[in-house]
Amino acid sequence: MTTLYVLGSGSGGNALAVAAGGEVLLIDAGFSAREITRRAADVHLDLGRVTGLVVTHEHGDHTAGAARIARTLGIPILSSIGTWDRLRRRMPTAEFRPLALMGGVRHGAFHIEACPTSHDAAEPVSISVRSADGHRIGVAYDLGRPTAGVRFLLRDSHAIVLEANHDEVLLRLSDYPPVVQERIASSGGHLSNRAAADLLQEVVHPGLRAVVLAHLSERCNSVAQARAVVEPVLARHGVTLHVAQQDQPMEPIELS
Ligand SMILES: [Zn+2]
Ligand SMILES: [Zn+2]
Repeated sequence: MTTLYVLGSGSGGNALAVAAGGEVLLIDAGFSAREITRRAADVHLDLGRVTGLVVTHEHGDHTAGAARIARTLGIPILSSIGTWDRLRRRMPTAEFRPLALMGGVRHGAFHIEACPTSHDAAEPVSISVRSADGHRIGVAYDLGRPTAGVRFLLRDSHAIVLEANHDEVLLRLSDYPPVVQERIASSGGHLSNRAAADLLQEVVHPGLRAVVLAHLSERCNSVAQARAVVEPVLARHGVTLHVAQQDQPMEPIELS
């Protein structure tokens, strides 16, 4: 069995984990180490089994607790070289394992593929984790637009964590200054609900069991709005749709 844990997602912090074969892979540590520990306990995720921390990019909402978690758990950081270059000064003792862009690396029970994404960070990636029992989980957030690489990465996923950041109309009506609106909507920004739905339309397949909408904007989106746009794409395929929350972990999603 492979289990996906979403400990929380949004501009205030992101942290996920995949557990399989007695091992756990953390993906992003955007809350304090104490908060990650608290949330993990809430959903009975055993941090003692964590073998590595994958970091998608260096932004604080993905790395706030990374240095401390890596140190206290004694685990390596897996990221792109560009991301590591931004992180290394904050964690001088951490071990680094580069992710292969457009390829894969094996890490214990997991095989991790990564591909570059379009976002205003040093060398951000989306990732796909395949566990020993063959389940594949895709994680794609903080991307301004879906590239062919991301579409390819998410193919054949059994579960996908996908950004549905904003409603395009709400973003334009928001009190964000125009320059911020432009940044969010740009190819270096974040994925809209509509763009997420279009991407899912392209990658949905009979094996896809669960989709988690993530990184929702508190100002320019709502759970109801994101669901309303994405649900029609998934409904006839029998895919369960979840929406990650900022302030609490989700019920774990089990793939077996
Ligand atoms: Zn983010
Ligand atoms: Zn970011």
